[in-house]
Amino acid sequence: MTQPAISVKDLSYSYGDNLAVDGIAFDVAAGEVIGFLGPNGAGKSTVVKILTGQLTPLKGTAVLLGLDIVKERKQVQHQIGISFEDTNLYEQMSAVENLDLFAKLYKVENFDAMSLLEKVGLAGREKERVASYSKGMKQRLMVARAMVSDPKMLFLDEPTDGLDPVSTQTIHALIRGATQRGTTVFLTTHDMVEADKLSNRVAFINQGKIVALDTPARLKQRFGLRALKVEVELPHGETAIREVTLDEEQTAQAVFDLFRNERIVTVHSEEATLEDIFFDITGRGLQG
Ligand code: ATP
Repeated sequence: MTQPAISVKDLSYSYGDNLAVDGIAFDVAAGEVIGFLGPNGAGKSTVVKILTGQLTPLKGTAVLLGLDIVKERKQVQHQIGISFEDTNLYEQMSAVENLDLFAKLYKVENFDAMSLLEKVGLAGREKERVASYSKGMKQRLMVARAMVSDPKMLFLDEPTDGLDPVSTQTIHALIRGATQRGTTVFLTTHDMVEADKLSNRVAFINQGKIVALDTPARLKQRFGLRALKVEVELPHGETAIREVTLDEEQTAQAVFDLFRNERIVTVHSEEATLEDIFFDITGRGLQG
């Protein structure tokens, strides 16, 4: 079997008495996008900080690209790109200067800042000081900066949190482009639509533990109930909604009865969202 790009075993971390990451284990294949989905305080950022060598785990191991993050931190850090919510950009410098500086640090030859800035929609504003940028522009620049060295692995911590739809789309396109080049992406988010759209597999994290990890489709199959929502017309012209749960023994009969006995106006199928499933497993929502 080929070596996983990330292999985590029994990883824990605590801030004082607060056990923020509680014995988690998972593997990520090379080229895979793994989405870490969980509410505020679930432990997502702490996991990213451990995997990127900013925090030393209390217990357990994390091996990235065949290297132990504690013992071979510098070598790992040289091969990964990180975009963190609070990543510092040099505010007094322009976007081009920020990227060029990073390219120098990473010894990237023939670096073309403009081509990267075009991809994140910052061409035309590249000479302005970053201090004058909006939150969305800074966020796009941070994601671009994480990609300067075309790293084998990208860590994106809530890359679209609080952004407008255009900035979000731009960042999603960048992530897709990176995965097409074979980059492994570790994405944390509390946006279930984002996790569903971008991830090959999603890990649900709650109170420092991974409570489910699978492809979005399989999570929906395993935990979510599919249903038909049928709008019917009642005798005096008003309408009502009837719901039939799919995949059950009596489903076929229920659909048959409905179509035989009622006047059907519209039929829609509905599947559970990742948020519904997260709620079913943990008893809490993804927001807050
Ligand atoms: P968010 O979505 O809000 O970023 P998160 O899932 O990334 O949340 P973490 O930031 O990893 O969660 O926090 C996990 C737990 O650790 C929380 O209880 C949080 O209060 C605590 N914590 C995080 N950073 C620190 C810190 N620097 N000092 C003390 N406690 C911390």
